Amino acid sequence: VFVCFEGGEGSGKSTQSRLLREHLEQHGHEVVLTFEPGDTPVGQQVRRIVLSPETGALAPKAEVLLYAADKAEHVDTVVRPALERGAVVVTDRYVDSTLAYQGAGRTLPAHEVEQIGRWATGDLRPHLTVLLDLEPEQGLGRFAERDRIEGESLGFHQRVRAAFLDLARLDDAHYLVLDARRPVDEIAAAVRDRVTPLLAQ
Ligand code: C5P
Repeated sequence: VFVCFEGGEGSGKSTQSRLLREHLEQHGHEVVLTFEPGDTPVGQQVRRIVLSPETGALAPKAEVLLYAADKAEHVDTVVRPALERGAVVVTDRYVDSTLAYQGAGRTLPAHEVEQIGRWATGDLRPHLTVLLDLEPEQGLGRFAERDRIEGESLGFHQRVRAAFLDLARLDDAHYLVLDARRPVDEIAAAVRDRVTPLLAQ
């Protein structure tokens, strides 16, 4: 079973993915908790390039391809092997982040970014994507330090948020959209309720 957490900055993805892992491990499942960008040796280097303030402005297409390289490496060396041995994979960000940040954020054509994402992942899709939805003003406020992306304009982050919500709206069966302002334990319970039936299949 493959579960993704998506959402803007400061929406609580890493907290919630950790809580889901704890819960599943307590129930005897092998869980691989991972993230994008950067959870492979190659990915770490890509992350440094795409997120370091020293990089400066990247050509949007170069940015898409760097994220795609991270994703291809991640799927090939981490996600697919784990799924094949029957582990539950929980990832903090996946293809929707690329569609939202590089597609909507950088205003590249959605279908082109989508094709690259499909190619990079061999069209591996999650069984469930949990979208932790939050107004960008609130999420960004949670950060004291800002990296290159968090320093983007509010309009950028508003496009990112709208893109996440559109993706969820178009594919109800594979999404759980939650208000990220709700208490942490309520969100965790809603996620568990949605993930548990997937494990019984
Ligand atoms: O999730 P995390 O905070 O580690 O993400 C790091 C940064 O990468 C975030 O600021 C996010 O905006 C950016 N990002 C991006 N495009 C992606 C994935 C992440 O711009 N496809």
